Amino acid sequence: MSSSVIDFIATEARFGARNYEPIGVVLSRGEGVWVWDTEGNRYLDCLSAYSAVSQGHCHPKILAAMVEQARRLTLTSRAFHNDQLALFYEEIAALTGSHKVLPMNSGAEAVESAIKSVRKWGYEVKGVPDGQAEIIVCANNFHGRTLAIVGFSTDPETRAHFGPFAPGFKIIPFGDAAALEQAITPNTVAFLVEPIQGEAGVIIPPAGYFTKVRQLCTANNVMLVLDEIQTGLGRTGKLLAEQHEGIEADVTLLGKALSGGFYPVSAVLSNNDVLGTLRPGQHGSTFGGNPLACAVARAALRVLVEEGMVENAARQGARFLEGLKDIRANTIREVRGRGLMLAVELHPEAGRARRYCEALQSKGILAKDTHEQTIRIAPPLVITSDQVDWALERLASTLTQDFS
Ligand SMILES: *Cc1c(COP(=O)(O)O)cnc(C)c1O
Repeated sequence: MSSSVIDFIATEARFGARNYEPIGVVLSRGEGVWVWDTEGNRYLDCLSAYSAVSQGHCHPKILAAMVEQARRLTLTSRAFHNDQLALFYEEIAALTGSHKVLPMNSGAEAVESAIKSVRKWGYEVKGVPDGQAEIIVCANNFHGRTLAIVGFSTDPETRAHFGPFAPGFKIIPFGDAAALEQAITPNTVAFLVEPIQGEAGVIIPPAGYFTKVRQLCTANNVMLVLDEIQTGLGRTGKLLAEQHEGIEADVTLLGKALSGGFYPVSAVLSNNDVLGTLRPGQHGSTFGGNPLACAVARAALRVLVEEGMVENAARQGARFLEGLKDIRANTIREVRGRGLMLAVELHPEAGRARRYCEALQSKGILAKDTHEQTIRIAPPLVITSDQVDWALERLASTLTQDFS
């Protein structure tokens, strides 16, 4: 490593809160599926900023929309109208079949906004006694890092010493419809769940789970809130992961790829009822729905559709999964995936996934471990067959090494 690389890393460590433990690479440029470090080494990005860069790094059309809008108008606050918000609403509603949209910035803010909205719906529409609303969530969930959200996490690291936490959440196992049925009470306003648990290690529920969940929520007048911040916008090979079971959520949360990685943009999408309960002054965000965010998101959605990225995710995801399944290595415990949301879970004896990610880095692939034993693989949705095969060769030679 040159001294400049050591400098960036050491300086971060000296001044920064150490709430991350990054792989030892300092990136300075990106284009499509590739990123380059400060020394000019090229890597295939198999994390895509946790799926925020689905459209590929620095997509030229999103970049052009961003620069054009930044020259014209960036922020008005919602105290005034702007000429991008209505177009963003219209386009995202048409694309996702939603009736109402609430624009926010980070994913966690979209989750918090959904929690507030379904509670309000519970009191004002469903008739739950004030202060009694319950929201059901799943064990091993990941919905962000704000206080209400970490309060219903089951990961000790996420929660420890951050309390006291907000009440009103009930935790059930993921993928277990009978547990949902048992947990619902007359005060249940919503079931908040990821279609596929991403941070937990790409955990795919049993077939038929969401069909049953949809039925239970409808039968009990409970809002089904799908956190599609990671699974949405093509990642799993469909525009929304809910489409794999042909269901429709009452509330859908989007973020990450909603801006193609240029800018934090998130949104709560809902039927008329849930977001319809919000009145002026009851919720807001200085940056939410600003013209720059709207212009970026409109371009990010447009290229996703126009350039066939959703279909490509399905096609290349199937190729990638097949290729991973063909790797004969006794380090591998299980390979999972849907679309380009993939994971390789290692046997405990194989050593930490982190070591494999570091070995992959030396071969030109950036991937991220999660939960000690799992390597997650989520390249930009613009990846080609040749690039998938290139990655598979390097994964195969790395996974047959022994780092225990
Ligand atoms: C990343 C993520 C979030 C949080 O998004 P931030 O923008 O980091 O706040 C919420 N839910 C899911 C499923 C995510 O993957």
